[in-house]
Amino acid sequence: MFIGIDDTDSERGLCTTYLCAVLMERLRPLGDIVGRPKLIRLNPCARFKTRGNAAIAIELKSDHPTEVRDVALETVQELSDFSGMNTNPGLVIASQRTLQMTAFYQRAVTEILEIKDAKKLLDEERIWYRGFKKGRGLIGALAAIGAVLPDFTYELIAYRERARWGTLRRIDEESVWRADALTYPRTWDTVDHHNNRIVFAPHSGDPVLFGIRGSDPEAILEVFQTIKSEPVERSVLYQTNQGTDAHILQGLLSDVLDCQSYRLHGFVAEPAKAIAGGHLFFPLQENEARINCAAFEPTKNFRTIIKQLILGDELEVYGSVQEGTLNLEKINILHLADIVETSAPLCPECQRRMESAGKGQGYRCRRCKTHAEGRVHLLRSRDLETGYYEVPPIARRHLSKPLVRMDSEKVHPAR
Ligand code: ATP
Repeated sequence: MFIGIDDTDSERGLCTTYLCAVLMERLRPLGDIVGRPKLIRLNPCARFKTRGNAAIAIELKSDHPTEVRDVALETVQELSDFSGMNTNPGLVIASQRTLQMTAFYQRAVTEILEIKDAKKLLDEERIWYRGFKKGRGLIGALAAIGAVLPDFTYELIAYRERARWGTLRRIDEESVWRADALTYPRTWDTVDHHNNRIVFAPHSGDPVLFGIRGSDPEAILEVFQTIKSEPVERSVLYQTNQGTDAHILQGLLSDVLDCQSYRLHGFVAEPAKAIAGGHLFFPLQENEARINCAAFEPTKNFRTIIKQLILGDELEVYGSVQEGTLNLEKINILHLADIVETSAPLCPECQRRMESAGKGQGYRCRRCKTHAEGRVHLLRSRDLETGYYEVPPIARRHLSKPLVRMDSEKVHPAR
């Protein structure tokens, strides 16, 4: 059985992954959970997301399908915030994962879908489901079941004791820095060194204490054991499409659509301009087509790279297009344009700078009596290297593939 759940939480509290963690415990007497539960991030541009557009899926071998349904239904009813304006839970239980469901996942991570798209496929495939209120969560629930991950990472989420929800999280900061030092680059986005911040714990009223991301379950466990904190009520290691660029489409600058995420090739058409608040924008051009690229203030030190780009730099940019602007997640500088400066030539005899011999009469050195026709062109070196640059951990999008995972390329990982 494949169980998919989404849209159970609100800004005020709860979390679909917490519901998953509790449900897993309740399902254990009814069967065997196959592999790891899946934490699936969907299109980051989706309008009604609470935070990171996450959905979850569990695969279960069970001889008690009716009881499994009952337990899943009860748990969704008990642990959803039905009062949330935009909380519209969806629960899907399928007996198999079909190619159509996998195609639906592909669309849900890259496009904007409607509730009727999910219902149509659910009905066509005769899949059992329950949608609550508007039932928008059926989109994510179905997509999470359909997700097949050619590339994946892990996240261990630790949850708080219920009595502490809404209170300040107690986490020993020194132990977090130590855990990062012990395991980076097998884990990432626990801390942000440049911005001197711990970034793996939310600040909201939800049940999550922290999340440890990485490629290696052993390293993640080492972080978990190193960190000292308030008591952990429960924890789950998820397999996830986070950190894989699953949302990124290879696109042409002339064809981009709003609410989709792309890798685009082009040339810097003007240096970046800052607006109030410290947000930076520059146009990227390919033939006649242009798009505005943005590095917003929260991307912090990434902006120092963007400020150094000049007319003619050849780039690939990665990010989501919203209202015609591409929000940068990372860039690959393919070629740096030359900065050419001109100056008076040097005297071939004494090597001193020559002076003008008068309008249209070239240059001369009075001392050596030498003469030269015109100014010389000099290449000024760029204080920037080619390769990949990314936003720092503090500004990372869940789905963005961090540069620590791109070891074969010329990368400048933000740490
Ligand atoms: P959290 O990260 O705290 O779990 P969230 O950010 O995942 O919250 P949800 O409460 O899950 O937010 O709300 C997202 C809603 O958007 C869900 O109803 C989900 O089904 C729907 N959704 C997901 N992907 C798409 C998509 N591609 N197009 C339209 N709707 C989508």
